Amino acid sequence: MTGAMTGPGEPPHVVVVGGGIAGLAAAYFLRDCAASITVFEGSPRLGGKLAVSDVAGIATDEGAEALLARRLEGTDLIRAVGLGEKLVTPGTTAARVWTRGTFRELPGRQFMGVPSDFGELARSDVLSDAGLARARLDAELPATPLDGDVPVASRVSARFGQEVVDRLVDPLLGGVYAGRSEELSFEATLPALAAAARRHRSLAQAVGALLPPRPQAANGARPEAVFTTLAGGLGTLPPAVAAASGATLRTGSMVRELTRTQHGWRLVIGPASAPEVVAADAVVLAVPARPASRLLAGAAGSAAAALGEIRYASMAIVTLAYPRSAFGVPLAGSGYLVPAVDRRAVKAVTFSTVKWPHLLPGGADVHIVRCSVGRIGDDAILQRDDAELAALAAQDFAAATGVSGGTVEARVTRWGGALPQYTVGHLDRVARIRAAVAAQPGLAVCGAAYDGLGIPACIATARSAADQVLGYLATRSGGRGGLDRGDGGQ
Ligand SMILES: Cc1cc2nc3c(=O)[nH]c(=O)nc-3n(C[C@H](O)[C@H](O)[C@H](O)COP(=O)(O)OP(=O)(O)OC[C@H]3O[C@@H](n4cnc5c(N)ncnc54)[C@H](O)[C@@H]3O)c2cc1C
Repeated sequence: MTGAMTGPGEPPHVVVVGGGIAGLAAAYFLRDCAASITVFEGSPRLGGKLAVSDVAGIATDEGAEALLARRLEGTDLIRAVGLGEKLVTPGTTAARVWTRGTFRELPGRQFMGVPSDFGELARSDVLSDAGLARARLDAELPATPLDGDVPVASRVSARFGQEVVDRLVDPLLGGVYAGRSEELSFEATLPALAAAARRHRSLAQAVGALLPPRPQAANGARPEAVFTTLAGGLGTLPPAVAAASGATLRTGSMVRELTRTQHGWRLVIGPASAPEVVAADAVVLAVPARPASRLLAGAAGSAAAALGEIRYASMAIVTLAYPRSAFGVPLAGSGYLVPAVDRRAVKAVTFSTVKWPHLLPGGADVHIVRCSVGRIGDDAILQRDDAELAALAAQDFAAATGVSGGTVEARVTRWGGALPQYTVGHLDRVARIRAAVAAQPGLAVCGAAYDGLGIPACIATARSAADQVLGYLATRSGGRGGLDRGDGGQ
């Protein structure tokens, strides 16, 4: 058994468990403190859900591929670590819905599928006539009683009817969470809309109040892009953040135990046959809910219990490269969503080389298409092997677009237990976790399990975890003119 132990007079040691974007961002935000920082990542690779590799010679993201530009936490970090010049905007974000046998425009004036403009909704033809008539009732119905947290589906269907849920909201939520609107919490998955809904009787009006002005109202200026990404792939962000953090980075180092000691923390790392024991003054847990729950079982039982209640969805990304010649007509828009009620294998498709023109700088001779497969509770499709999954995705894509013929390359990336489900009660769960964690000196948590799955939201949790640790270390250093370790190692 080896031990990384520091003694009195040495700088404090902060351990970050998990080398995804949240853990690496936390290490970066701690970079200037007078502590040594170590990131332990269980897998052989940093980055977690951010990864990039080549398909048909083009660097293509395997996991997250776009970043919400309106929340500045992501773009600020990108600039801070020197990747600002790599930021690129989409060529188009106009998406469609493949439903009721054909492509229909996704209304632009919507918030996670919740519509605000019934004229536009009618023109999109996403809903049947009966569905549209029911949706319009939102304007007339009396206020919906607010009685605590409810599923997205029940809140939205109470206002607009079930078709809006099935054909608009569910596909969009399915794209982000791989989840189901009858389980996901209205308050936790759509917090801005939930807040606006308290001020408006009509949910369409609440959406309207959240959306930016229509482009023509903004003096004809080109509307700011909602999304951005990095030329070279979002998967290039984790290594840049890791390098800029100055932290010691340990991949292949699974943290198996975390226990409280008299003055700090003791971690056990690596295989049972050759465990390494590490002492830390403070610990940031930047891992998904399940490993966080296991690690906190002894030190913070109620946090562990609440973390254990968070379920995860599995999914796969099938990336297909086609010869350009396979496309008779250019693909229109950035891609399409497929409602679960339409019972197709693929739930969303991004026309990567159309959405992101920088992927084809010299007008290369391929098109890249990214197909998203798998929803919570529907894992059967993910049991297929890679070749079957790629064939199924190509078949679905051909049925939707008419593009057939062989692919020049296919890549299947499986993301098992990847997406936390913010089900009804999530906000209470997170409050319980945070209260129990706050009661443990020098402990903080961050990552996708808490306040949002998106990269900026994960970075925001990393910032507050780092702030908590800095506050704790400052308190411990007291008026002694610097930070010191109190436990002298374990
Ligand atoms: C396919 C897919 C597409 C997505 N697309 C987008 C998108 O386009 N835009 C967007 O904003 N978001 C997107 N997301 C969501 C976003 O990527 C994630 O929510 C975010 O990257 C999660 O970061 P994280 O650091 O919290 O967790 P993770 O990335 O899961 O990192 C946690 C790390 O902890 C490690 N770990 C676990 N247990 C231990 C342990 N005991 N010891 C040490 N290490 C451990 C894991 O190996 C992992 O590397 C997508 C997610 C997926 C799966």
